[in-house]
This record gives sequence, structure tokens and C-alpha cells, in this order.
Amino acid sequence: MNLFELTKALMNIPSVSGEEEAVGFWLRDHLESLGWTVKLQAVSKNQNNVITYLNDTPRVWLSTHMDTVPPFIPPNEDDEKIYGRGSCDAKGIIAAQITAAEQLRKEGIEDIGLLYTVEEERASTGAKVANNHPIAAKCEYLINGEPTDNDLAIGSKGTFRLNIKTSGKAAHSAYPEQGDSAIEKLLDILEDVRHTKFPDDDFFGETTVNIGTIGGGTALNVIPPQAGAGIAIRLTTKRQPIEDALRSVVRDRGEIEVLSCSEPVRMLEVDGFKQKVVRFTTDIPYLTNWGQPLLLGPGSILVAHTKDEFVLKRDLEKAVGLYVNLIKKFLATENTEITEITEKT
Ligand SMILES: [Zn+2]
Repeated sequence: MNLFELTKALMNIPSVSGEEEAVGFWLRDHLESLGWTVKLQAVSKNQNNVITYLNDTPRVWLSTHMDTVPPFIPPNEDDEKIYGRGSCDAKGIIAAQITAAEQLRKEGIEDIGLLYTVEEERASTGAKVANNHPIAAKCEYLINGEPTDNDLAIGSKGTFRLNIKTSGKAAHSAYPEQGDSAIEKLLDILEDVRHTKFPDDDFFGETTVNIGTIGGGTALNVIPPQAGAGIAIRLTTKRQPIEDALRSVVRDRGEIEVLSCSEPVRMLEVDGFKQKVVRFTTDIPYLTNWGQPLLLGPGSILVAHTKDEFVLKRDLEKAVGLYVNLIKKFLATENTEITEITEKT
């Protein structure tokens, strides 16, 4: 099965987060038929990570996720592009990685593993479970795939997700002085959040805030006793200074409920690759036991998660070559050509 057929075969199996079982089984059967050792790692009752390798202790692993955002959009193609859900995020990437691994194998290189996770698009639950797998201990380099336009991402922003909740006192809306509006409190807080300049970072760039959800109240003629807003902050610093700044904005007017946090991550720099910082978060912060992380993949994050998702066929082909080169470089060198960037002070 060639690169494009493999991409479309994976895309044809719907795998919205939570429903990855079928695509995992398909990958298992496909890789077993090629001669790989395949293990399914249970994450929930019907979700499994796929962990596959040629020898027992591979030093370099390729990885990405099997789940997609909704809705399922079946594959379509023309001469230049493959369209549909998962084309770039991330089934085209899986296909490019398998193709690269098979190419290396034909050249006698078998020190490679493939890790495919579930649930990346929600809470990286698959990656969190994969992090406990004993085979990770022997992994030296983890090349994670997400759409980076085939550039090497040397940094990715973190994500800090939280709710701000306010409470007040219900009353008849004709007698507002009898009540206390939770919505008005929330609006005041959100207005202050919008005008807060959070700390940035020279390397990672700007810290940005999205007020993504808002809700509250019970009826038009009732002073609202409860309100809340959901916020995602793209972190370029550690969480603490941002959380401190936010708490000093909210003060005692509301409550902050932290939902999740992944801090920004710096990844390996490699000579000869175009390098950049990406704004999105990946499985990488949760795969800390899997060696030195790298991030590279075909396709554009700007079309991922949209109804117009596509990947350029030539980008898929180029990615195969890039993965092959990276792996050869890591397996050939004893860390001499690779400079690990040091944490800034
Ligand atoms: Zn993705």
C-alpha cells in the first residue's frame, strides 16, 4: 500500500476522540501483516494505544495520535492534495511515518518503534498512559508528528485551561436592589482579563488568552445567581506567573477552577532543518519518559480542525524523507552532531 493509499485507508475509518478502537485494530492488523511486533495498550474499555517495533528496544520512535476532531469527513483527492478529516491531523502523518520506517527497514535499520496514541485532541489521556510503558525507558529520541509544515518545531506553547465562576443572589428582576448579579460580576472580571498584559517570553513569544465559553443565569426576569466562563491561555512562561496575574485580576470577585495545564516545551534543535516555535500543544508534555522530544510533520495547523482540512501530497512525500534523515542521523551519531539546547535562565 503506497503512502497516499495508506493515508486514505486510515482516513476512511472514523476515529473521533473516544472512538479510536477500529483504527487501532486496523493499524495492528496492517503492521502485523508487514512483520512488526504490535502491542495494544489499554487506555479505557474501548481505547488502545498502538505500540509497535521491530527489535525489542528501539532507540528512536516516531509517534502521533490516531484520534481526530469531529465531524468525520471522508477522504477525497485531486492531483495535488488529499482532503478530509485527518488528512493532515494526523493520519497523513501516521502514513508518512510508517512509510519512512518501512523504507529504513529495507535498508536494514530496525532500531525503530512507532507509537500511536488515543485522545490527543481532548486531554492526551493516551499519552499519559503510554508514558508508563516500560519500553519507553530505552527510547532516546521521540519524533512526534503534528502539522508543522515540515519544519522542525523547537518549542511549543503550553495550554492552561480554567473556569472563572461567579456567584450572586437571585431576585425578581424588577427589584434588582434585592439581588446581586453574578453575570455582571463575571463581565467585569472578563473585561479586566481582556485588558491584562500577561508576561511573554522571548523564545516562545506572546501569551494569548481565549475566552472560549460563557454561561449563566436562569431566566430573563431573574437576577442571575451563577455565571461562569471557560478560558484557555496559550502559555509562553511557566504557569505560576500567569496564574498569579490572573488571581490578582479576579481577586475575591470570583473563583478560579483549574481544569488542566501543560507548560511550554523546548525541543531538540537539529542542524540543517528549518526551525520554529509552534503555538499549539501536543502529546509531548505527557511523554516525558520517552527520551528527547522532537516535533515535525507535514501539513498546516491552520487547516487542521477545519472543514477544509487537507494535506499536499508532495508534503507527505517530503515528510517521509525528513523522518528517514532524522532517524539515520540519530542512529548514526553518538550525540556528537546534536546539540541539546539548554534551558534559559
Ligand atoms: Zn494533532
